[in-house]
Amino acid sequence: MQSPNNLKIAIIGAGPASLTLAAILHHQNLPFTIFEAHTSLRNEGGSLDLHPATGQAALKEAGLWAQFVKHARPESDVAKAVDLITGEVYFDQNGPDKEETEGKSEEELFAGRPEIDRGALSKILYESLPEASVKWGKKLVKIEPSATAVKGKHDLYFADGTEERGVDLVVGADGAWSKVRSLLSTIQPQYSGISLIESWHRDVKSNPWLHDYVGAGTMFAFGQDCAVISQRQGDGSVRTYACLRTPEDFIQTCGIDWQDQDTARKDFVEQYLSHISEDLKWVVLECKDFSIPRSLYELPPTFTFSHREGVTLIGDAAHLMTPFAGIGVNVGMTDSLSLARQIITASKGEKTPDDALREYEADLFPRVEKAMQKTLHGKETHFTENGTKKMVDMMKGH
Ligand SMILES: Cc1cc2nc3c(=O)[nH]c(=O)nc-3n(C[C@H](O)[C@H](O)[C@H](O)COP(=O)(O)OP(=O)(O)OC[C@H]3O[C@@H](n4cnc5c(N)ncnc54)[C@H](O)[C@@H]3O)c2cc1C
Repeated sequence: MQSPNNLKIAIIGAGPASLTLAAILHHQNLPFTIFEAHTSLRNEGGSLDLHPATGQAALKEAGLWAQFVKHARPESDVAKAVDLITGEVYFDQNGPDKEETEGKSEEELFAGRPEIDRGALSKILYESLPEASVKWGKKLVKIEPSATAVKGKHDLYFADGTEERGVDLVVGADGAWSKVRSLLSTIQPQYSGISLIESWHRDVKSNPWLHDYVGAGTMFAFGQDCAVISQRQGDGSVRTYACLRTPEDFIQTCGIDWQDQDTARKDFVEQYLSHISEDLKWVVLECKDFSIPRSLYELPPTFTFSHREGVTLIGDAAHLMTPFAGIGVNVGMTDSLSLARQIITASKGEKTPDDALREYEADLFPRVEKAMQKTLHGKETHFTENGTKKMVDMMKGH
């Protein structure tokens, strides 16, 4: 049998789950190659809050805690809850109510859910890796068992016509529409019932009202079939999601011309958000630097995949969920931590690589089901009448 030390490991995708796995493996001097469809590291995307027992634990295991502390924003771990219809503010942890950060130890500051920009997180992880370990512009189009006598090896085929043969362990970290997943399951993500318009105001200092209204962290307002969520980013910009429960083809059939962004935003507010508070309408209208419509998809909470020697999944590929519990990245980084620990143990010869995968998957499925149920529950309760109030009560443990 091949020594587990010499396993040829291919990780498909260079999102946060993949980069976390790679960073932990590299910290233990274990080789791997990442194959990513994009031609460079993606910097776009919003702020993410990393929790101590999950995302933060994975960064510690990758030896990247100091870099995280440098780039994270514990001061953004504040929330404001607003009634969608009346605009009543139920609570606001900004300003005078905000707890003082001065004089607090690092442990106290990071005990909550400090925010970090997705771009900063990706950069910290990526810069810890050997340059040649990431192959850009490699879109996986096919994966199949190798035609060799050795069971569990796979061949990878990329859109640029290149191939990678005889891979011992393929880790599908290729997100929502994972190509690797199709080898392990026939189940495809389903429309979640929610579509949203994501809009940005790049330099929020130029708009003092928006700056103060949204605050330093997250502002949220939920109601019947509708929500407005805004988030401050590390570069001072504000990102707003205006969400609606709609049929799947809403974006294509609602009659709004999304190419003309300014008119589209106004039409959207006029036609679909006329019932919400004036302040919240204004938040959506003021995020005018960039807008994009998105439909959200999800896998069922009971989703599992068949065990197959030499192949497994991490991150959204294994558990695509909506952002309404805000835990997708933390769950994905926990997958990476759990799988990395198994690979490291196998590399020491303490178990076979196949047993390592089985044990990873035995940890994955129940852990992920809990997270997906929580997310589904969030989606179902928040998008109802008085959704903000229900969420606030939930946060207070009522
Ligand atoms: C609107 C929105 C808001 C969100 N907000 C939050 C939040 O606040 N907090 C949170 O924790 N989570 C949030 N999430 C969820 C979070 O973004 C995901 O859980 C996270 O990005 C998953 O990371 P990943 O590495 O598994 O996949 P991804 O980030 O999707 O990365 C997958 C990578 O694989 C690459 N790839 C895909 N197909 C192929 C292929 N065939 N070949 C090669 N490469 C491929 C892609 O280009 C990509 O780089 C949000 C999601 C959405 C949609």
